[in-house]
Amino acid sequence: MAEPEKNQIVLKGISGAPGICIGKAYLVDREGVDLIKRYPISEEGVPAEINRFKNAVKRATDEHAAIIDSLHNDLREQMDILETHLVLFKDKMLYGKTIETIKTDRINAEWALKKVSRQIRRMFMKVNDPYLKSRVTDIAQVSEQVMRHLVGAQDIRISDINKRVILVAHDLSPADTSQIQLELIKGFVTDRGGKDSHTGIIAKSLAIPAVMGLGNVTHCVENDDILIVDGNSGVLIINPEEDTLFSYEARRANYEHQQASLARDSHLPAVTLDGVKMRLMANIELVEEVVSVRDNAAKGVGLFRTEFLYIDLKRFPSEEELFEKYKEVVELLTPKPVTFRTLDINGDKVLPYMKGVEEENPALGLRAVRFCLKRPEIFITQIKAILRAAAFGNTRLLIPMISCVDEIIKVKEIIGKAVEELKKEQKVFNQDIPLGIMIEIPSAVIIAEDLAEHVDFFSIGTNDLIQYSMAIDRRNRQVAHLYHTMNPALIRMVKMVVDAANKKNIEITMCGEMAGDPLNLPILMGLGLRELSMNSMSIPLINQMVRRLNAVDTRAFVEKVIKMGKASDIEAFVKETYGNILSD
Ligand code: PEP
Ligand code: MG
Repeated sequence: MAEPEKNQIVLKGISGAPGICIGKAYLVDREGVDLIKRYPISEEGVPAEINRFKNAVKRATDEHAAIIDSLHNDLREQMDILETHLVLFKDKMLYGKTIETIKTDRINAEWALKKVSRQIRRMFMKVNDPYLKSRVTDIAQVSEQVMRHLVGAQDIRISDINKRVILVAHDLSPADTSQIQLELIKGFVTDRGGKDSHTGIIAKSLAIPAVMGLGNVTHCVENDDILIVDGNSGVLIINPEEDTLFSYEARRANYEHQQASLARDSHLPAVTLDGVKMRLMANIELVEEVVSVRDNAAKGVGLFRTEFLYIDLKRFPSEEELFEKYKEVVELLTPKPVTFRTLDINGDKVLPYMKGVEEENPALGLRAVRFCLKRPEIFITQIKAILRAAAFGNTRLLIPMISCVDEIIKVKEIIGKAVEELKKEQKVFNQDIPLGIMIEIPSAVIIAEDLAEHVDFFSIGTNDLIQYSMAIDRRNRQVAHLYHTMNPALIRMVKMVVDAANKKNIEITMCGEMAGDPLNLPILMGLGLRELSMNSMSIPLINQMVRRLNAVDTRAFVEKVIKMGKASDIEAFVKETYGNILSD
């Protein structure tokens, strides 16, 4: 009898790693581990039962150590996570307590281990510390590894899979994930896990599509079912209809094509024909974008717009919550620098949970650093989180919307207070990080030399600099025609800022959108900028442009541009001079 046609099912989970893959399901069987029975042990039987437990731990530890040994040296991230797990096997709470429970309750090792790991997990869940909370998963995974050896359940042996499949599992531990052979496993989906989990981090580093936190995917999928894993949007489609399959095939091919051409270009050094090096950095808003930072070969994060972590929540985040996120980004990118821009809310980014004074003109109101100085407790919390994350890698601190010297002095006082608190609390932190300011208000351009006395670097924010110098609301379509990066006023202001930074010997970069448009590149290079930060997707194209330019020529070119009085003339001049490179 022919099998009945299966219906298409669409499940929404969390994106574990980006990318799209289509293939057959392979269920990772964990039966045996979940069906634990409780049985009593006689008093004389206790030592043997403890030994049985110790042996299982030993076998699990040996197996785990072998996995670590088999890893390549450049998989540092995975190695760190696995080494943490190695320590957990002999953790007093888990190991010691299980032995004690076998003795006191006189029960079998499986039940004792299950009981203890459940207690630890409950205890950690109550703690108000997201870091400790996330360790719950580690403990569950380590005890499951031991449990497998206790019950003699079949190993999942991901390393033994010999066909191209998509893994479907209740959960995958970092140890499981590390065994994934990239040429065989197309992607994976799990019931558990989230974007913050270690498994998610590893999936991203492996760059295979993954959707996690699907709830009960293991009960919806059968072996050999056709699956579409869309790691970009966190969607899983089981037994897709023909149309869906066709459209996803096209999407997958398109995505892979894009990735391949991007990757090919972006890993070449961004050096001009006459040997001038440009540092191309990425602007990000979310931790998840780190993948794209890497894929596009950014030299670090030049602008981390931190407000999005505040917008996502229903309240102001705690120092611990922020620290966890910041640390993750810093660790993922180290030794590349991560530039944390402090909270830039109000203006156009409003926090839904913040009831404040209604402002007639929010862009000119209590925005960014002005808000932070008015609410120092919120500011200090963020600065403490950044300084703590700075202990884990290369970090820079960037303050938005500085309009006068007094503000930067006040900011430094707040940083001083944050440092005092961290010392008192005996937390690990690093206060020795470059302090920079966004130059995005015309007054800051005019007093740039004075401001330079107080900071280590400038970052030019052209998005706001245009808004405030041209008096154009960034979001108002009625005046959008005036919003032009080739406006002579803007170009001359950029020159003033670069000259001031060079004179005062501080670093200078640009992180406004102007930096990501290839048309602007000859001007920016000619003005002397050597570091630009942009949406990471723009990097490959800018990189390609850099490799086709002569820095010396751009200097001569800009000398003419600076004397021009109309944006349209400047644009025509850029196209006339560099059109051949651009049109390509
Ligand atoms: C800018 O103003 O140019 C900038 C980079 O910051 P934002 O767009 O976040 O205001
Ligand atoms: Mg800005």
